[in-house]
Amino acid sequence: MTWRHALVIDPVAENDPRVHFGSTFTPIDPAAPALSVGELSTQRGDGIFESIGVVDGHPQEVAAHLDRLAHSAVLCDLPVPHLEQWRQAVASAAAEAPAGESVMKLILSRGVEHGPAPTAWITLAEAPDFSVPRTRGIRIVTLDRGFDSEAPARAPWLLLGAKTLSYAVNMAAIREARRRGADDAVFVSSDGYLLEGPTSSLILRIDGRFLTPAPGAGILHGTTQMSLFEELARQGHATAYETLPVDALGQADAAWLVSSVRLAAPVTSIDGAPLAVDTDLTAAMNAYLLSPRD
Ligand code: PLP
Repeated sequence: MTWRHALVIDPVAENDPRVHFGSTFTPIDPAAPALSVGELSTQRGDGIFESIGVVDGHPQEVAAHLDRLAHSAVLCDLPVPHLEQWRQAVASAAAEAPAGESVMKLILSRGVEHGPAPTAWITLAEAPDFSVPRTRGIRIVTLDRGFDSEAPARAPWLLLGAKTLSYAVNMAAIREARRRGADDAVFVSSDGYLLEGPTSSLILRIDGRFLTPAPGAGILHGTTQMSLFEELARQGHATAYETLPVDALGQADAAWLVSSVRLAAPVTSIDGAPLAVDTDLTAAMNAYLLSPRD
């Protein structure tokens, strides 16, 4: 990965006048060491993040990402981010992006152990080349998430629905999918409902309607899925959030895993059963997702 830019943010309160002057963040050398060894983000994965796609210098769906960052902060008892401060920092980092696709990460950590304040920073790097999954598609397997669909309400300390830095489990799920001969996974609740991919949202097309699992069930509300649903609705398609039992996969005539940087990856098989790809629609989805979006 080629790092292009990084900056550290001095998280401030809502009415801090320094935000008006854009002086609450500082560019740093993206190749140089920057974090203290006492950082709770590295020691415990205790923090939250967002990954934003940047296309030809345009950061996509910034408001939706910042809203989700704020939502994750509330779920994790972190200080709620000053959104204008972060918006300025995102714009500043995006101005350093080269032509083509980049990935910007926004990170808000609980800070240094026993330290006074959270730590926050932004990185910008070249995005991997996702042209193959976007066009040829991905094979997925279903994996048990180990939680039932009531767990998010019953046990909020599990932080289901927050985009925390603790992604070791998500990465392990992708490795398990690969061991099973697939490219990616879809989590299923232990009581049999479809949830999300380890790094993506699931969209199914059933009887001409585009469906996605309702975000209340402890999954992230995907900014890409929201944006695509708006676009599909604009084109006259029916879209809905539903509680989808795992059997719904068998009724789908097309499916996608969607996320901010890989964008729409059409599903070519589920647990070994082939699924057709709607090539034209997938190309149109990705063309839309690559266009500047706010
Ligand atoms: N669900 C999980 C667990 C994710 O990690 C992601 C993306 O990072 C998504 C869904 C999709 O979110 P977005 O479309 O905002 O990238």
